[in-house]
This record gives sequence, structure tokens and C-alpha cells, in this order.
Amino acid sequence: MNFRRFRILLLLGVLAGVIGFTWLEQFMVRGWRGPLDIAVIPINGDGSAEATEAIRAMQEQDFLDIGVFLEREVARYGVKHAPAMQVTVLPELKQKPPAPPRDGSVLKTMLWSLKLRGWVYRQSDGWLPQPGRIKLFLLYHAPEDGVALEHSLGLQKGLIGVVHVFADRAQAAQNNIVIAHELLHTLGATDKYEAGGMPRYPQGYAEPELPQSAQRREAEIMAGRLVGANGEPVMPPGLERCVVGPLTAYEIGLDDAFKRRYAAR
Ligand SMILES: [Zn+2]
Repeated sequence: MNFRRFRILLLLGVLAGVIGFTWLEQFMVRGWRGPLDIAVIPINGDGSAEATEAIRAMQEQDFLDIGVFLEREVARYGVKHAPAMQVTVLPELKQKPPAPPRDGSVLKTMLWSLKLRGWVYRQSDGWLPQPGRIKLFLLYHAPEDGVALEHSLGLQKGLIGVVHVFADRAQAAQNNIVIAHELLHTLGATDKYEAGGMPRYPQGYAEPELPQSAQRREAEIMAGRLVGANGEPVMPPGLERCVVGPLTAYEIGLDDAFKRRYAAR
């Protein structure tokens, strides 16, 4: 075999390995066989003193209400894990992940997602990858009046979330809504809101079987907002007012887990 052929074979081997690994990870997390393994990696998003302080003070307990939310919601679909997730806070990272392309062309987005996966792998200090571990990079920013945070994202391939959050205790409950939303993206959930931020009916509404005009107290997590009394989208105060709707449950594999559970009886 000449060198060129060998190199092609090697590349194909690496590619097959990556595809196989991605499949294995999805099989693991979407099977709901045990608590989700989540690593949280804080990053100072704007170099501010507020972000430095938020990172210094952060601890595993800060994410408790995400665990409570997940445990409560997956139980409604027949998956009973207490706890439903285990969070490990890793040391602060001094580098930021590669930013997504501004124009969302398919090729550019694909290349960027590969770049991001490579970047995440390099951050792991060359340890063997831990299959099934969800990696959430939290970029902290000092709150600024009228300035919105960059768009957060969660990628199913590679189980990676890049989440922009506020370095502000008063925003902790809302930060956790955003983190939970991106976490469910890594498990395969899709967005359920329209371009203007309105939840999409019926799948983006809590209790989708009710008519669209019926008042809701809760938000579907992948819509991120409930519809207020005046018909405007409202961010719920915290995860206690968020639910996983049936379509999201289906997308993140809860239906399969549900069927398996009852088939085994
Ligand atoms: Zn989203």
C-alpha cells in the first residue's frame, strides 16, 4: 500500500470513529438509562469584574433548579431518575470558543461546528473523551441596560452548549432557563418559537391540547416564553414555570424510554 492510500484510509478511519462516537453518545444520553452527566465550564465573557466574581462564587448548587425541573418533567414521561442529572463544575477556561458564522450558510456552519468540536476536544487536556458527557460552556457577562446577550446555542453533535449568561445573582433563575433550553438542544430538541419570539402553536405552548387563546401559566422550555394576558411573549420567572411538551419529549428520546419501560413489564 502506498502512502497516499494509507493516508486516505487513516482519514476514513478517523471519520468513521467520529461518526461512531457521535452515535454512541446520542444512544447514551437519549436512552435515559441514568442521570445525565454534565460538565459546566465557566468563561469570563467580557473580561468584567462582575463576571470574575460570578465565576469565583459559582458552585454546583447554582444549577439545582435545572435538576429539579428535569427530574419532574422526565418523570411525567415515565423516566424516574433521582437525581436526573449530575453537574461537575470544571475550572474556569481562559479561552473563548470559536464564534458561529454571522451569515448562517450551511457549509460555513458545518465547518464551524467541526471547529468547535475540535476546540472542545483540545480543552479536555488530551484526555480520552468521556462518552456521554454534556459540556456546557457558560460565558458570563456583566448586565448592561438595553444590551442583549449574544445568542446561546446547543449542539447535538458533540453534546456541546455555549451559553451566554448574566453575571448577576438576580438573574440566576432566568440564566438557568437558558441553560436548560440549550441542554435540551444537545439531546436533540428543536426550537419552538417564531422569528419574533412568539411560541409556535401548538407545540411551543404548555398544555398544547388547549386552544391557543386559553391562558397559560407555564412556558414550553423550547419556546422559552409563555403568552401573557395581552397576548405578548413573556419570559417565565424560573424553571418551576417551565414544562417539557410532548414534541420536545419525543425529540429527546423520552418516548422510547417510556415504551421500553412499559414493554419490560
Ligand atoms: Zn434554542
